[in-house]
Amino acid sequence: MKPFARIGLAGALVLAVVVLAAWINRDRIAEDIYLRRAVWGMRPQPLADIPDGLSVGLCGAGSPLPDPTRAGPCTLVLAGQQLFEVDSGQGSAKVMQLMGFAPARVDALFLTHYHSDHIADLGELMLQHWAGGAAKAPLPIYGPTGLEQVLDGFEAAYQLDRGYRIAHHGPRIVPPSGFGGTAHVFPMPPGGPDQTLIDTPDLKVIAFPVDHRPVEPAVGYLFIYKGRRVVVSGDTAPSPRLEAEARDADVLVHEGLSPRLLALQRQAAVRDGRWNVAQISRDILSYHTTPEDAAKIAAGAHVRMLVFTHVIPPVPSPLLNRLYLGEAPKIFSGPIRVGRDGDLIELPAGTTEIRVTRRLTSY
Ligand SMILES: [Zn+2]
Ligand SMILES: [Zn+2]
Repeated sequence: MKPFARIGLAGALVLAVVVLAAWINRDRIAEDIYLRRAVWGMRPQPLADIPDGLSVGLCGAGSPLPDPTRAGPCTLVLAGQQLFEVDSGQGSAKVMQLMGFAPARVDALFLTHYHSDHIADLGELMLQHWAGGAAKAPLPIYGPTGLEQVLDGFEAAYQLDRGYRIAHHGPRIVPPSGFGGTAHVFPMPPGGPDQTLIDTPDLKVIAFPVDHRPVEPAVGYLFIYKGRRVVVSGDTAPSPRLEAEARDADVLVHEGLSPRLLALQRQAAVRDGRWNVAQISRDILSYHTTPEDAAKIAAGAHVRMLVFTHVIPPVPSPLLNRLYLGEAPKIFSGPIRVGRDGDLIELPAGTTEIRVTRRLTSY
């Protein structure tokens, strides 16, 4: 046998032995991978491996319409070692955990308005904040007028469950005082002044009105941490106020509705005889923003990066991003991202750097 063939045969034998050993030990290997993933998910300080600064995570980049890659509206904002959440859309509490951020670690939730898609997971978030972290105090929740009514409703719906869990696990594991949320309500009339909700030397969180009529109040949020700035639009039609608030921001997280793709959805609804759905898809054009208009706002505000969230209608493949964005890349010359669940954009303090990473784990 030639030396070349002998080496090949030996290599094949070694490979066969390795594959056989892995096959025999496959359950142990699977257990090991499973344990590593569980340990990663349970870390008490999930923010420790993120550089000091301001970061934005998408825990729900979708809308009320089902999208296989996007939960309902939810944006995480990490400021140093503090974890904040803007809106609590359908399925977002699970996505957060898949990103390695436990609901128990959320320091405060900020709500933009009370459309169902923005509050659908509020009950789950509050429950997991409480039961997942043995919280002794309820979750702080900031929102414009109307918050108490929403919060009272969710707390009433979860009262039975509260009782079951205290009876089953005991008050040491689920302290009764930690159930639910504490409402921090602020007034926000249309065109009203900014509301500064958190004001410390390193961190400012500011709410401002946006235009989602007839939904009032509706707000956006500006986060400033050690000089880095992020704006989250909430749901809005093109808003000059938003453009002013976003001036020189590092990242503008803006909602976006593609009329072109929505027209195809409408066509499908008409074909199916679903006239009410067709009409709703026409109505929603008036209180959202097209990607092109969001790009104009981003350009006018001189933001450094534009991230689309509340992506309407569903964009199930990145291959469709071009159709979704339309002319937006010609209008805004900076980086544009059509957000997906798991996106994490890091803005290290003391730099002008913008790092885009993915944070959705899989085994
Ligand atoms: Zn809305
Ligand atoms: Zn919405």
